[in-house]
Amino acid sequence: MALIVQKYGGTSVGDVARIKQVAARVAKYRQQGHQLVVVVSAMSGVTDGLIRLARDIMPLPSEREMDVLLATGEQTTIALTAIALHALDVPAVSLTGAQAGIVTDGVHTKAKIQNITPKKVHALLDGGNVVTVAGFQGQTPEGQVTTLGRGGSDLTAIALAAALRASLCQIYTDVDGIYTADPRIVPDARKLEEVSYDELLELAGAGAKVMQLRSVEFAKKFGVIFEVRSSLNDNPGTIVKEETKSMESVVIRGVSLDRNQAKVTLIAVPDRPGMAARVFKALADAAINIDTIVQNVSHGAAKPTTDLSFTLDKPDLLKARKVIDALKKEVGFREVVANEHIGKLSIVGVGMRSHSGVAAKMFETLAREDINIDMISTSEIKISVVLDLAKGDQAVRAVHAAFLG
Ligand code: ADP
Ligand code: ASP
Ligand code: MG
Repeated sequence: MALIVQKYGGTSVGDVARIKQVAARVAKYRQQGHQLVVVVSAMSGVTDGLIRLARDIMPLPSEREMDVLLATGEQTTIALTAIALHALDVPAVSLTGAQAGIVTDGVHTKAKIQNITPKKVHALLDGGNVVTVAGFQGQTPEGQVTTLGRGGSDLTAIALAAALRASLCQIYTDVDGIYTADPRIVPDARKLEEVSYDELLELAGAGAKVMQLRSVEFAKKFGVIFEVRSSLNDNPGTIVKEETKSMESVVIRGVSLDRNQAKVTLIAVPDRPGMAARVFKALADAAINIDTIVQNVSHGAAKPTTDLSFTLDKPDLLKARKVIDALKKEVGFREVVANEHIGKLSIVGVGMRSHSGVAAKMFETLAREDINIDMISTSEIKISVVLDLAKGDQAVRAVHAAFLG
């Protein structure tokens, strides 16, 4: 008998028929004698719909109230899934994140898990129940409702698997596994049998939304091996684990496009020590994550100034503009320009460490497609470029064909 944590994403619980299918799968595993903890997302579209309702009232709603609002999405699904299990004569009990013992810090809308005390989960499992747990949510030690950032149900599942020492962690979604590129953009993308934590970290950080970035960080830190697979069939999925020797022989594991970033440029920032520190400290204090940063050479001999560009998550743009506008006098830049129509294209692979010419090949491919590169950033196993979002899909297909076709 094994303890299995299964997570079902929004599409997999998208309507009552799908929820019944989930219950049938869970019942099958239980019949084989396993104990099951089932983490569910909100039904697809529900979280976005709730966000829209709040923004129709005001553009920048209170983050505390957003958490209270969004947590309802997952609460609907845990109950419906438990009811669907009851209909199959399987004993099941639903728990909110707080009831499951998930304690977080107080950073609303992107809270971090501090600890998990799954006493109730253990007790219910010992009583013969399937336990359905609301993904994406937790509670501060003071009892405030929090959420874990978009896609956060992945994190709930991985963190529970670690805390419960589960023997298996399965992430069920609407594709068969992790592909060399988003199969919705690149039709001839191939499913990967396995991928290392580091590669998936870079892919997820680069916008491959198949797994939430923070959930992969958590899995790597605690050595949680997991499988990403489809809730629509029984095909084997992709195993995510620590790097093995054989993974290095593949130069590029995958290509991804992040459409969820915006670019901000501060024009004519005085070129003096401490200016960048001032700007990024203020953004960090507002819990805004910054990705690529580019600073140009300075102009003007008497009073040198420079342009400073960076990318950030699109939903944070409004908040970032507020922070930056408040700094205008102190830092003394001329103006701020924001561009929401950018995409960040990345190629990822641990084999890049031992192969040369990868960047040149990527840039040549984009040049052949007449696609302009706006910003470039690299890590040991990733090369990213910022480009015009309108050319994003074309760029992904061309680069995928060049390296993985
Ligand atoms: P869930 O609701 O189950 O959490 P998501 O929508 O968050 O599912 O993630 C699954 C989606 O991720 C797929 O439908 C696919 O379009 C997208 N995706 C992006 N990049 C990849 C990739 N490299 N491999 C597989 N899926 C990807
Ligand atoms: N419902 C949340 C979201 O849409 C969390 C999740 O689905 O993982 O981001
Ligand atoms: Mg997801």
